[in-house]
Amino acid sequence: MSHPSTGKGEDLNLWNIVCREFDKAASRLGVPEGLLQQIKVCNAVYYVQFPVRIGDHYEIFEGWRAEHSQHRKPTKGGIRYSEAVTQDEIMALAALMTYKCAIVDVPFGGSKGGICFNPKKYSREQIERITRRYTVELVRKNFIGPGINVPAPDLGTGEQEMAWIADTYDALTPGQIDSLACVTGKPVTQGGIRGRKEATGRGVQYGIREAFKHGEDLKKHGLSAPLEGKRIAVQGFGNVGYHVAKFLSEEDGCRVVAIGEVDGGIFNPEGIPIAPLGEHRARTGSIRGFPGARALDRPGDVLEVDCDILVPAALENQITLDNADRVKARVVAEAANGPTTPEASERLAKRGVLIIPDIYLNAGGVTVSYFEWTKNLSHIRYGRMEKRLDEIYREKMVNVLETTTHHPVDEKRRRELIQGADEVDLVNSGLEGTMQNAYREIRELLLSDPELGDLRSAAYAVAIRKVARSYMELGVFP
Ligand code: NAD
Repeated sequence: MSHPSTGKGEDLNLWNIVCREFDKAASRLGVPEGLLQQIKVCNAVYYVQFPVRIGDHYEIFEGWRAEHSQHRKPTKGGIRYSEAVTQDEIMALAALMTYKCAIVDVPFGGSKGGICFNPKKYSREQIERITRRYTVELVRKNFIGPGINVPAPDLGTGEQEMAWIADTYDALTPGQIDSLACVTGKPVTQGGIRGRKEATGRGVQYGIREAFKHGEDLKKHGLSAPLEGKRIAVQGFGNVGYHVAKFLSEEDGCRVVAIGEVDGGIFNPEGIPIAPLGEHRARTGSIRGFPGARALDRPGDVLEVDCDILVPAALENQITLDNADRVKARVVAEAANGPTTPEASERLAKRGVLIIPDIYLNAGGVTVSYFEWTKNLSHIRYGRMEKRLDEIYREKMVNVLETTTHHPVDEKRRRELIQGADEVDLVNSGLEGTMQNAYREIRELLLSDPELGDLRSAAYAVAIRKVARSYMELGVFP
């Protein structure tokens, strides 16, 4: 079978790429070959073609749901709506989910799904019908359920699609008290969790912050702390790209100098304000024409602008041998899945560019999905039981402090000190701790075995070791 490739002969098939990265890391682990094979293969793929009434005729849609590894249940992973979806891509993305979950210690196996169509060409009502019909197919084949397989948003899908999936599942499985946990990334009013929409972008922010805490590592890449003042370029102004750009510029003092989209991009060395750009796009349908910024003609131009940190947050295979030599950033922070080919990674590494790999960096989404799933199973909002009690204790502490020091605490400080944690505070602090721990684990493994070469191989190695341990403990049944 022929595979997509670049002019330089690189194999762009994402499944092959993931398998190659896996083999590279696995060769250093001493895990038995048979077990490595079992971890690497995709356990199950459901392929379906189904009809949906579009206007006055029926259209046939192709959909997939892959379960890469069933060593933990449920399996977990997003659903992608794109004309470029293929079975190999879905299998590869499911595999990345397995490794991602292991890296951030989320107790799920990896899964992914997709439907091959461009949602921008369909009305909201038509997308609802396509989504609901796809969900029916998944229910029929047992590829969805709170303890079986739990989808989430990905490219081309968001809260709305997740709400339709939850509602369809609930309608087909009446009386199941846990049915809301069949999907994550739902609107907060439909059983979602605060902070999930922003979670992947938040996780990318926390991951970049963590990388910038290790001065000696940065030095090796010709970089220096602090993160503040660094110039950022972002490819893809969707859910992930928007939030990364917003958080890094508004909370870390970074300057977003370029954003790229399907129809081109914009560049402004003085910095681009993200919230107004979001409003401009909502009003005009494009980021282009934003006041004060110069136009970038091609979607790929953003990858080559002068900046410190490049955040690909759109699609796979964006940095290849065709453009790697023109990437000027010193850090490539992979918010998208598979944005850099193995050959391009090598080329960048030779130039000392630091790559923070996807399987670690964009794991914030699945981490908070895990929080949402546990919230749905416990049927109570995080913080609801303990927030007031926590505030009462804090108030007592402040009172004791005042009486022992004879210094009254002013009203503003008092309010800050006694404020208990809301759901979003708990979610974000849980996510931050997760991203910090995972980075340190990957970094320590790389320091202990420099032959692994880079953070990506070290991240794969961390994941493979954890999944292998789980298989060893379970054995094979029947
Ligand atoms: P999205 O659909 O919300 O946004 C993607 C954006 O990229 C869109 O605005 C689209 O117009 C743009 N785009 C498409 N092709 C482009 C191109 N060639 N150049 C520039 N821009 C282009 O999707 P998302 O949820 O933000 O996902 C983005 C990436 O992050 C994907 O690789 C996805 O797998 C990954 N990811 C997403 C999540 C999540 O929670 N949503 C979690 C982990 C990883």
